[in-house]
Amino acid sequence: MHEISLMEETLTIILETAQKENAVKIHRLNMRIGAVSGVVPEALQFAFDVTTQGTIAADAQLNIELVPTLCHCTECNRKFAPIDIIYQCECGSLNNKIIQGKEIEIVSLEIS
Ligand SMILES: [Zn+2]
Repeated sequence: MHEISLMEETLTIILETAQKENAVKIHRLNMRIGAVSGVVPEALQFAFDVTTQGTIAADAQLNIELVPTLCHCTECNRKFAPIDIIYQCECGSLNNKIIQGKEIEIVSLEIS
């Protein structure tokens, strides 16, 4: 489960940030996770609960904003949201780029 190592990295970042701000407690972590980022939100939530134990983020909440997949068709120049695992544009083309949905981002942190 790579969510654990991902959360360990994330935790390192947020703990450093909190330390710089002289915070004693982390209350909430807001993240954006793309639909095709390879991260399972439930697994990330579990990883958060496990890795934050014994840290100033132990009682913190993890808020995950899911980012839907969006593709850009290179044939007709349209943007479309794929409805299936096969990313096909309305024009019939399968040539596209994923322009949204791969996000794994820390949005904000609430500390005190
Ligand atoms: Zn198209």
